[in-house]
This record gives sequence, C-alpha cells and structure tokens, in this order.
Amino acid sequence: MSEEQNAFVQREVERLTLKQKAGQMTQVAIDLVFEGPTYVLTVPPVLSEERLDRVVGELEIGSILNHPSRTYPTPAEFRQYIGAIQEKAMATTGVPVLYGQDAIHGVNYVRGATLYAQPLGVAATFDTTLARELAEITAYEMKAASIPWNFSPAMDVGRQPAWPRNYESFGEDPYVNKVFGLAMLRGYQGENVADSTKVAACLKHFTGYGSPLSGRDRTPAYLPERQLREYYLPQYQAAIDAGALSIMINSGEINGVPVHSSKELLTDILRGEMGFEGLLVSDWQDVRYLYERHMVARDLKEAVKMAIDAGMDMSMTAVTTDFPQVVVELVQEGQLTESRIDTSVARILAVKVALGLYDKHLWDPESFPEFGGEAYGRRALQSAEESIVLLKNDGLPLPIKPEQRILVVGPTSDNMRSLNGGWTYSWQGQEADTYLADYNTIREAVEREFPGRVTYTEGVGFDTLIDIDRAVSLARASDIIVLCVGELSYTEDPGNINSLVLPAVQRRLFNALDSLDKPLALIMTAGRPRLMTGMANRSEAVLFAPYPGPRGGDAIAGILSGRVNPSGRLPLTYPREPNALVLYDHKPTEARNGTYNPLFEFGYGLSYTDFTYADLALSSRVLNPDDTMTVSLRVTNAGNRAGRHSVLLFSSDLVASITPSVKRLRKFTKLHLEPGESQTVTFQLTPEDLAFVGRDNEWVTEPGTFRLMVGELEAEFDYEE
Ligand code: BGC
Repeated sequence: MSEEQNAFVQREVERLTLKQKAGQMTQVAIDLVFEGPTYVLTVPPVLSEERLDRVVGELEIGSILNHPSRTYPTPAEFRQYIGAIQEKAMATTGVPVLYGQDAIHGVNYVRGATLYAQPLGVAATFDTTLARELAEITAYEMKAASIPWNFSPAMDVGRQPAWPRNYESFGEDPYVNKVFGLAMLRGYQGENVADSTKVAACLKHFTGYGSPLSGRDRTPAYLPERQLREYYLPQYQAAIDAGALSIMINSGEINGVPVHSSKELLTDILRGEMGFEGLLVSDWQDVRYLYERHMVARDLKEAVKMAIDAGMDMSMTAVTTDFPQVVVELVQEGQLTESRIDTSVARILAVKVALGLYDKHLWDPESFPEFGGEAYGRRALQSAEESIVLLKNDGLPLPIKPEQRILVVGPTSDNMRSLNGGWTYSWQGQEADTYLADYNTIREAVEREFPGRVTYTEGVGFDTLIDIDRAVSLARASDIIVLCVGELSYTEDPGNINSLVLPAVQRRLFNALDSLDKPLALIMTAGRPRLMTGMANRSEAVLFAPYPGPRGGDAIAGILSGRVNPSGRLPLTYPREPNALVLYDHKPTEARNGTYNPLFEFGYGLSYTDFTYADLALSSRVLNPDDTMTVSLRVTNAGNRAGRHSVLLFSSDLVASITPSVKRLRKFTKLHLEPGESQTVTFQLTPEDLAFVGRDNEWVTEPGTFRLMVGELEAEFDYEE
C-alpha cells in the first residue's frame, strides 16, 4: 500500500464508530438480505429492502459472501444485488462492502461462467502456466459479476486420502501445493489487484486442514512442530511473500487447539514470523464453533474474545448477526482494547482500498465480452484433457479403433456431478446436471466421438443396483467396454466416508463384465483415490479423472479415440489397500520388505507416445552454500505421435539427522515434443531446495550426499559447507 493509501485507511479507522468497526469485522451470507428462510430462499430470490436495511443499514456489516441459496445468478443479476448492497453501504458507513465468493474451479456460482478442472485435476496437469491462465479467467469472470474477492487458492496439502476435500487441494505434496497455489494467486491478483480484471485471493485454510487423523472433515490433526513447519507453512510463506491479500483460517484443530483460537499459529507464527499483514478471515461460523463444537469456550462472548485475541480480523458469521454487538461489549467491558479492533479494521479496509472499491465497486457485465466464451472454454477443455491420467494400457486397447462397438456403462458415465465435484452450481454440486445440461457427459461425448458405435446402460447407480444383466448382454454385443465408476459430488462433512472402498454394487458390475472375454477400459472419476485394485488389475486400460470439469466428458472421449494424447500425472499416491495409506515421501522404515507398494505412485502417468530420458548431468559433483546447481537431461519423444509430458525431479538425502524421506519432489516442468524430437530440460537447484526442518525445528541443509532422480536416471552429489 502507498503512503497515501495508508493515511486514508488511518483516517477511515478514526472516522468510524466502534459499532461500525465491529460491523467491518463481520461477514454474513447474502441470504440474509433476501426474503425467505436462510439456505432455502425463494426462487427466484427477492431482495428484501427491510433485511438490507437491517444488515447493512442498522448493523453496518461490512462484508457479504456467497450466492443467494438455490439460485445461481448471471453477472447482471449479481451486479444488481451487489449494487443494492453497495448503495446501502455507501449511504450508511460510506465504506464499500467487501463481497467474497468461493470460485474454486471457475466462478462456480455465477451462471454461464467458465468452469474447469478442480484443483486436484489442475495439479495433475503439472502445468503451472495453465493454472495461472485459469485463475486469470476466474478473476475476469468474477469481476464481470462485480465480485472482487475469491476464497481460493486452497493450499491444503491433502495428506489424508479419505479427506473429502482432497480435490480442492493440489494433492499430497507441499511443493506442488506451493507452486500451483502461487500460480493461481498470481492469476487472481495480477500485478495490480485494482485492475478491473483482478480479484483479491484468499489462501486457505491456514493451516494443517488437509491432514485430519480420522480422514473426516474438520476433525483433529496432530502435527508435531517440525512437520508443521516443513509441510504446512512454506506454501503460505511463498504466497505471503508474493503479496496474497487475505488468508482463511483452518476450521479444524491441531494438537487439541482449534486453529481459530490459536494465538501461536495466527499471531506468533503467521504475523510475527511469516510477516503476514493482510486480512485474516474465519471460516464459516467458526467463532461460534469454538463453543458449540470444540468446547474451548463457554459462550459466544468468550469465543469472540478468544478468536480476536488469537489474531482473527473478520468473522464469517455467515447466518448469524450477533458477532458485532459482542465485539462492542467486549471493548466496553475492557476485555478487548479498541486499538486491537482498529488493527483488524485497518487490515480489512486496506484490502478494500487495494481493490479500489472506494472508487469503483460495480462493474458492467457488458465490458467483459470474454465471459463464458469460446476462448476461455478452450483453456477449460485443456485443463480437462491434461488433468486425466492414463494409468494402464496393457495390450494397447486404447485408443479405441473407429470400427469397434463400444458399451459405455456405469454409474458415473452419464452425469455431470462425477465430472465436476462439489462447488459446482451449489456447495455439494448436486445440481450440476441441471445447470450444465449443455455439456457432454462421458456417455454423450463418447457417442459423439464414435457415432453409431455406442450402446449405453447404467448397470448400477452409485450405490444402488439397477440392471446388471442388461449391462452384461449389451457387453456381449460390444467389442470394448468403457466402465465408468467412482464418486458423485460432495465436499466437507457430507463427503465423509467410512471406507475408501467403492460401494459394493460398483464392484459387482465390474465382476459381471469382467467375466466376459472383452477388453475393458476402467474410468475412475473421483476427488480422492477410491480403491480400485482388483478392478484395475483386471482391466486392460485405466484412466483416473480427478473432476475434470464440464468438458471432462469431451476430454475422456478424446483420449479414448486417440484424438487427445493423455499427459496427466498423479498428484497423489494411489493406494492399493485400505490400510496402506503411506504417501510417496514416506520414511525408509515405511518401505521395508516391500511394504510400500501403492497401486500407482505419485507422479505416475502414461502417454500414447514414449518419452525417454538420457544424459542426466549435474553442473558439479559438489554443491556449496551459495551455489546453484544446474541439472540437465535430454528428453526424447521416441514414439510416433506428438505429446505433452511433464518431467519430475526428485531428490533424496541419503543420511540425515532426521530420518529423511525416501524422496521429495523438488522441481518439475512440462514440455511438448513432436515425434522424434528431443529437448534438453534444465533445473536449477539451490541448497535451500534440499532443506528440511531439523531437530531444533529450524530449516537446515545438512552436508552429505544427495541423490537426484528423474524417471530411471539417477545422479549423486555432495553438499559441503
Ligand atoms: C469452507 C470454506 C469456504 C467457506 C465459504 C466453508 O464451509 O470450509 O472453504 O470458503 O465455507 O463458503
């Protein structure tokens, strides 16, 4: 912020009354300004002058989020609603409202916006340039709807395979989460966040959210400080350094302390050590949950004091409005100082100023001609195509030959929910089929791709029996079976599961089809690695489609026909057994006697062409503290068709004072190679890239031998101080 902006914020803080400042610290759902009951508004929604008066006029609340429940307005409708809200705010406090929304894979609550692969799918592309472009599309389309604040990117490292929000993260690796989070942050905020096509990002959920021990959402994580520092802080640090304007707090608890009440995490570490000066917002109702769920406060007042003392600036009270009054009381009673309130309000206003909202808080949808257009659609399609991972192609049943008769079957073959996941035209994504009816399901896309060659039957529902016999008889009359299994859509609590094993009916369908002597291509569409060991072993081909978005059907059909050459790689470890959930960067003892044996390893992914690696070379056999080592190798497309390919560089620290991970991903890049073409890939490594958090909880690169690995190639060098 410039000095002038700073001075403006200070004057604003002085101008506002205590009550107005408490209002600035409050964020409610837009449902509260419409007629009808919260969560189930009338359709179409009717803005209530009376409620607007109460929420923005009387209570002087300074931030609003979400979409009117059960409705997904167009940009013009959003402009109208937000326009009424802003008008009221400007007439009351003179401070524009900060409107926020979850645009997780495109602006998923705005009708007609460009939706693309979920973050896990974006990570599977291993293409950070694409990630940035996708985020640029989102920012543009949010602004078309006058929404300047995005609750994304989620930089949660999804390290618990059952966790229902794995697909909202960039997978299990902290480095992947860091670089993709950074790419999206840059796409959202750009060089100048006040630009009419940029929005403020909100990193979430600080921190450790992706590692609940139970695998259930918002349940305890137990993270030793060393692990916290090594796996759950660096991605935030990088994004803070890159100018992230806001952060959302993890709804869960770490080591028995709800993060919303943790001064250590939110103030000592986040502000003190990491230097975050931006806006720290709670997650949905989480101040309340300190006493309703976590039992660390007796009542709302104690909870509010606890969260503010811990460092929270804004409470996403969502559907209640008692927060600001409690803040006022706490100050009047001397339990909180007004200067503490001023600090938070200044941070909130700083975001409003950075976004230029005082000058402009409404945008004309007409000035956003690219909204939902073809050019953006092509990028979304690319994200779908490159997110899909070809895991097996034994005997090369794929691509399917044009003359082959195809049976498309299975519970995920003819719906949009399984391609899109949650945060798709509703929180749980269950309305995707209504609003994305114009897009092709897998079945529709395969029918278009192979006209006249396709029969279809569902066989079974997600967990209900329909007609397996019919599926078998249609399979008999086909040359290849495309069996689509996996998940519907979900997020958060409703997505909790008791087992990673798929519902029994899906396996029954598989078994019935497998008894025929027909090649079978298994397509797993899911937001987490649902177990498929038996099915994958007995299928000729396997594709994993981690919620590729509305164009996922087209992408899958394109891969089946060979029109698209797959290039996705797994951003997670695909487990083989229910209790073998060891991740790729495990410790040596976790791999003794062949016990580390996932179905597919992190980073795995095939192509229709062959990429070969040669000549792994290091610029030196010794790395010293201020050095940068250049690592190079030659990558050749030795097959007969063009393809994109990502190259992953891993390292292992052979001996260390903390048991070293067997390997860690350090760098990656993606290239395009024509048949026969070679390219030299270079990576730059510094000692910092090889560091870990040591016994004293400080980062350290220890002298000793390191091994670098790219595919089958290996090279060693020594780090010397
Ligand atoms: C989720 C957040 C989200 C917020 C607002 C919460 O339930 O945990 O990720 O940003 O709702 O929709």
